[in-house]
Amino acid sequence: MLARMGWLQPGANGALITVSASGEGLDATMRAVTLRHEIAHGAFYTVPAYRAYTRRFWQALPESERAGFIAFLDQQGYDTASETLMYNEMQAYLVFTQDRRFFNAQVVNLSDMRLEALRASFLNGMPDFWLRDLATQPVPLAAISICPDALTGNPA
Ligand SMILES: [Zn+2]
Repeated sequence: MLARMGWLQPGANGALITVSASGEGLDATMRAVTLRHEIAHGAFYTVPAYRAYTRRFWQALPESERAGFIAFLDQQGYDTASETLMYNEMQAYLVFTQDRRFFNAQVVNLSDMRLEALRASFLNGMPDFWLRDLATQPVPLAAISICPDALTGNPA
């Protein structure tokens, strides 16, 4: 399939991402958030201007804030010796992992207010391309989490 798509040709530009199947402990919202996280990695690898922007954003962070991300990523099992991996994951978690079960201010030792300020700053300077919409659109709710009575206004 990769050969048919031309991805094995010299100079080909593409990224293959995967997402877990739904199942116990992984609801539809979690899958949607995971997919956005992985799509952000796809953009990182295929859009050089985005990769360069992410690197500059990372390098402009205060040392203590980079350390917070690195400590979190270390706990998650990432190879912290790779700075590229650190800022690639930083952008994917900071902007595209909007689910407190996966990522929140406390895990990177920031206040909620500072984390929101970092997200806003990242988005403000981010190159304007298709990925931006995924950063700003609400995450779809899991159908199973929607109570029919909540939709009709009828009391449960
Ligand atoms: Zn990731």
